[in-house]
Amino acid sequence: MSRKYNFYAGPAVLPREVMEKAQSELLNLNGIGLSILEISHRSKDFDEIIQGAEAKIRSLMGISDDYVVLFLQGGASLQFGMVPMNFLKGGTADYVNTGAWAKKAIKEANLFGKVHVAGSSEDEGYSYIPTNLDFSSGAAYVHITSNETIGGIQWKEYPDTAETPLMADMSSDIMCRKIDVNRFGLIYAGAQKNIGPAGVTLVIMRRELLDQVEDGLTTMLSYRTHADKGSMYNTPPCFAVYMVKLMMDWVEAQGGVAAVEQINHRKASLVYDTIDADDFYRGTARKEDRSIMNVTFRLPSEDLEALFVKEATASGLMGLKGHRSVGGCRASIYNSMTLEGVEVLADFMRNFRSQHG
Ligand SMILES: *Cc1c(COP(=O)(O)O)cnc(C)c1O
Repeated sequence: MSRKYNFYAGPAVLPREVMEKAQSELLNLNGIGLSILEISHRSKDFDEIIQGAEAKIRSLMGISDDYVVLFLQGGASLQFGMVPMNFLKGGTADYVNTGAWAKKAIKEANLFGKVHVAGSSEDEGYSYIPTNLDFSSGAAYVHITSNETIGGIQWKEYPDTAETPLMADMSSDIMCRKIDVNRFGLIYAGAQKNIGPAGVTLVIMRRELLDQVEDGLTTMLSYRTHADKGSMYNTPPCFAVYMVKLMMDWVEAQGGVAAVEQINHRKASLVYDTIDADDFYRGTARKEDRSIMNVTFRLPSEDLEALFVKEATASGLMGLKGHRSVGGCRASIYNSMTLEGVEVLADFMRNFRSQHG
């Protein structure tokens, strides 16, 4: 069967090898004669999977024992609420408003305390990452969105928040590059963009923050519950965790996060260089803040954009329509998108330009 090129923003492309591996052992995991879909989450085989997934995430990202690594449900969207529910306690938190996802996080935080917007790029349609941040003193934490999936902007350098814990939504760029986890209090990411299928959310949290978790929360919404029980208070999303484990094996086989990062830069340059070659395509993000995961661009007219998406689809390049809230076009080129797939895209873009430019 011929596969198409998947540029959807999420759920998103997975490596062919990972899906083939899952397929090959779907009916019979480790020779036990049962499927990952039907075994107990308390079984030895699942225990190895979840422990293995955690160990690989730790080694790939360089996460020390000062941090807990959790596998939760509810998506990044539940983390928008859980972060303030656990840590805001009626106080003030600083949020940087970089776009649609940051705004959703801010909305939830407003339910649990005060939000101070320390910086915003709303004035220019969220086309850049604000600098000159104005942090408040005594903030419970600072929240950023490391990559805005819709606007196509990405933090290149994380802000220095001194003693205030930095919390980050990394849903669409986790493991796309090397980062220093020690700079963060908490990182969360829905898996379905860069590290697996939908259904599991990765949380990486500095262990000492557990002491500050609000008391009296409903059991499932307290980070303490999940940290105490190794993400096994209740049934975890077993299959999604299994897929994350296979993804981590794959990242390791690529040479680790640094190797993946190098390829990601090459992929992003291929598309951006095509965009920048003349003024037919127009990148929507400020150059220095352009995302290496989600490339957002416009064509000279909406009619041409529609035609571009239509012809791309006919050529097997899927998911290039921009988010419905902003229009335009978007190519999501996550870790699992191959260099070859991006070369095909760049070729298509050049051909389309020569026919319609
Ligand atoms: C996709 C996305 C979300 C939402 O994730 P869910 O897992 O669907 O809740 C949040 N933040 C960012 C940056 C995203 O890209």
